[in-house]
Amino acid sequence: MRSSIFIDGEWRPASDGATREIRSPADGSLIATVSEGKIDDALAAIAAARSSFDSGVFTSWGWARRSALLATVADLLERDVELIAALESGDTGKRIIESKYDVADVAATFRHFAQLASEQHDKKIDSGIPHVSSRITYDAIGVCSLIGPWNYPLLQIAWKVAPALAAGCSFILKPSELTPSTAMHLLKLLEEAGVPRGVANLVTGAGSVIGDTLTTDPRVDFVSFTGGLSTGKRIMSKAAETVKKVALELGGKNPHIIFADADLDAATDFAVTAAFLHSGQVCSAGTRLILERSIHDQVVTEIVRRAKLIRLGGPTDLTAETGPLISEGHLKKVEEYLARGVQEGAKLLVGGVRSTAPELSRGWYFPPTILDNCDTSMYCVQEESFGPIMTVEVFESEEEAIRLGNDTIYGLSGAVWSKDNAKTERVSKALRHGTVWINDYGPYKPAAEWGGFKASGNGRELGEHGLQEYLEIKHIWTNNSPSKSGWFADGI
Ligand code: NAD
Repeated sequence: MRSSIFIDGEWRPASDGATREIRSPADGSLIATVSEGKIDDALAAIAAARSSFDSGVFTSWGWARRSALLATVADLLERDVELIAALESGDTGKRIIESKYDVADVAATFRHFAQLASEQHDKKIDSGIPHVSSRITYDAIGVCSLIGPWNYPLLQIAWKVAPALAAGCSFILKPSELTPSTAMHLLKLLEEAGVPRGVANLVTGAGSVIGDTLTTDPRVDFVSFTGGLSTGKRIMSKAAETVKKVALELGGKNPHIIFADADLDAATDFAVTAAFLHSGQVCSAGTRLILERSIHDQVVTEIVRRAKLIRLGGPTDLTAETGPLISEGHLKKVEEYLARGVQEGAKLLVGGVRSTAPELSRGWYFPPTILDNCDTSMYCVQEESFGPIMTVEVFESEEEAIRLGNDTIYGLSGAVWSKDNAKTERVSKALRHGTVWINDYGPYKPAAEWGGFKASGNGRELGEHGLQEYLEIKHIWTNNSPSKSGWFADGI
């Protein structure tokens, strides 16, 4: 059993001694037994974060020293890549190679925010008065609750922890209760790098138990959340009680539009990757394939052929191309979602039933699945399955492609394929999504903002804005030669 709660510089068990078993989604084996934090633990973590922030212990470091700290954390992450990848794959079931890519992205995130911190400076304003200086400063927002999901556990929390540290904030980190191991290791690295006591706190445990405490406590200034839409809505309404700033990275139902004049070899290949990478457990998964009618049969025949070839397997299976779903509960939800799609009239072309292969029988595997004959009135087109289910729709015109691409409550990401640059430019501008790829699918850069339009959330992570979320803007006006205002008569 590992004491996985880190408060005020100390590792401790849960206040009531409760624990949780973390089991591999790939084969059910016991990965770890960790502390299951409760409300008392969340309150203690908030108190520690508040007191460290109010003491000025970290804000007094200044931007340059905090930038150097982030660069050290990036070095430590790279040093421990093998160990961290093993922990991440243990919790999520994803292949070790994918976890290693994730660790590289996590280190790149810390380096990006180290760079931004090193460039940070006040902004001078022209006061229009010779003896008055006026400037804008950027202060740490304060105490932050950082809440993450299970699909890219370390990467998603890195997008929060790195800018929080760059800004000089103190925080309480709550990873998904299903995947706490890499968050625990990150906190060890922060300790090693010299983050002051009380600045970085970690509470493992169920969101349904400690989530409200972390998002409503008046001592918390900012909540940054990545997860599902319903949880995001709850956090937003709860945070209103204390007028807390909230940043939300929620779901996506991402249109992948292919015109007949696209490079179909590349587009078809990307269609398969976009939908089935990490078994569809990706917020930006290209699960809505939207094809120009004239290429429908050709593309669908090819993606069905390719979907059948995808090999499922656990973290250390070197022949595997994608892994299991995160839990039995999630697998059941994916099955119900599929059944509803078929009931609504979608045509199941491939996949759709759990694998019976003996080597997969102890894990939560679900095969790549394609539903044809779909339209935007269907639940399976409108709602996220967060599993390996691709729906196929068709369009006749550019206008219709745009209309379909925007016919969703979500707005996280999308893609358009065509060799006609003017057309891809028009379509990319018209799509109401936070990221649009042209003749590509999936890449992101730490220097580019990430986030959603509409119900995919608010605020942005990464880029420059990803740091600004953690800053308060202050105007400082300095009169170097004060004299009476003369507004009211002084009676003299
Ligand atoms: P989830 O909403 O179930 O849980 C996310 C986190 O919220 C977990 O840590 C959970 O413990 C916590 N939580 C639960 N109830 C809470 C409450 N009342 N208050 C505060 N926190 C609470 O989501 P999930 O199943 O872990 O993740 C999958 C979802 O995340 C998908 O919808 C996916 O699209 C989304 N996601 C979005 C992005 C993005 O960048 N937009 C990235 C990854 C995942």
